Amino acid sequence: MTFSGKNVLITGASRGIGADIARVLAAYGLKVWINYKSSAAKADELKAEIEEKGGLAAVIGFDASDEKAFVDAVKTIIESDGELSYLVNNAGITNDKLAIRMKVEDFENVIRANLTSAFIGCREALKVMSKKRFGSVVNISSIVAETGNAGQVNYSASKGGMLSMTKSFALEGAPRGVRFNAITPGFIQTDMTEELKDEIKEAYISKIPLKRFGKPEEVAQTVAFLLSDGANYITGETIKVNGGMYM
Ligand code: NAP
Repeated sequence: MTFSGKNVLITGASRGIGADIARVLAAYGLKVWINYKSSAAKADELKAEIEEKGGLAAVIGFDASDEKAFVDAVKTIIESDGELSYLVNNAGITNDKLAIRMKVEDFENVIRANLTSAFIGCREALKVMSKKRFGSVVNISSIVAETGNAGQVNYSASKGGMLSMTKSFALEGAPRGVRFNAITPGFIQTDMTEELKDEIKEAYISKIPLKRFGKPEEVAQTVAFLLSDGANYITGETIKVNGGMYM
């Protein structure tokens, strides 16, 4: 894969899918900006691991749902590198409960962490990438945006919002040379799915045609493709990475 840009910011890259996105994009030669909210040590370890393999990495801690912090982080990157070529809005949380027990606060916190953070990132990326008439953004949504899921009214709303928001940003970005796409992962082996009880995991695996959870690297390779020059004619698209669970 070839990349005309040189650097990428990945939100929530200290663990899980985000960490593998950083590993994969660094291996393709991009300088990766590893964002975290609370796992500073893990972010530092990942930076060291990437540098040991000859890659370029920097750590940038901020809460992606904090507008000022996100805007300042993008400024820091521009001051350092002169540009931001790519952004991956990956930071996300869950706070699962049945809707009848869900408080407005439980709903809004997840919307803020997952959807508002991605909005801020897309907006700032569009501003800075427009100046170079070049850039690409990938938003990490979820299969539950497409299927719904009991116990995840808040999370599925946040992830569904990301898909329609991606299309609207794609329309605004296209005349300015900036592409926006989304990925809807199915069940991927990370801390987020590790929390599930074994019997629930078995029940999900029985519904996955490829009969296993996905690996974070398998999402990361799809991110790399969407950012790469090979996807230059793709914008406003959603790619499913779900083992065939929802087609
Ligand atoms: P994870 O293992 O729980 O990691 C979440 C990451 O997001 C961490 O690096 C965490 O940083 C960061 N984060 C959370 N809130 C943040 C905030 N406000 N600002 C900055 N960083 C924040 O999750 P994951 O499974 O890798 O999921 C990554 C993304 O994929 C999420 O958007 C998730 O919804 C989506 N996804 C996951 C699956 C799955 O099966 N795992 C399926 C579909 C979609 P700290 O550790 O520093 O707090």
